[in-house]
Amino acid sequence: MMLRRVLENLFSKPATRPFPRTAREPVDGYRGAVEFNRENCVFCGACALRCPSKAIEVDRPSKTLKFDLFKCIQCACCAEACKRGCVQLRSVYHAPVFEKPEFEFSGAPVLAPDGGQTSE
Ligand code: SF4
Ligand code: SF4
Repeated sequence: MMLRRVLENLFSKPATRPFPRTAREPVDGYRGAVEFNRENCVFCGACALRCPSKAIEVDRPSKTLKFDLFKCIQCACCAEACKRGCVQLRSVYHAPVFEKPEFEFSGAPVLAPDGGQTSE
């Protein structure tokens, strides 16, 4: 019995997947990567106020939004709170990271007099 189990384990495929080389298809409604649409953000702070894990920080005077991926629990409260539709949770898995990623943006681009984009 024992020998049979050992041989089965030796020659059967592993039950786990070697992520990220092989990723399972996300199930319907999976809440994955948080994405911000920085062009429409007015730095109102509603997303940060609703975030239960304090993963978002908004500084209104300097028009800066910071997002901490390691604190985020993918609850989607920020997406529900943002009335401008600037936050979305995409149905994808995060690739593993080895260092704490820093995500921050500030001051939505404004149109220059010649119609091109410039930053404030
Ligand atoms: S992402 Fe939405 S809720 Fe958050 S600061 Fe920008 S506009 Fe406000
Ligand atoms: S998904 Fe939830 S935990 Fe992550 S930033 Fe949005 S509100 Fe915070």
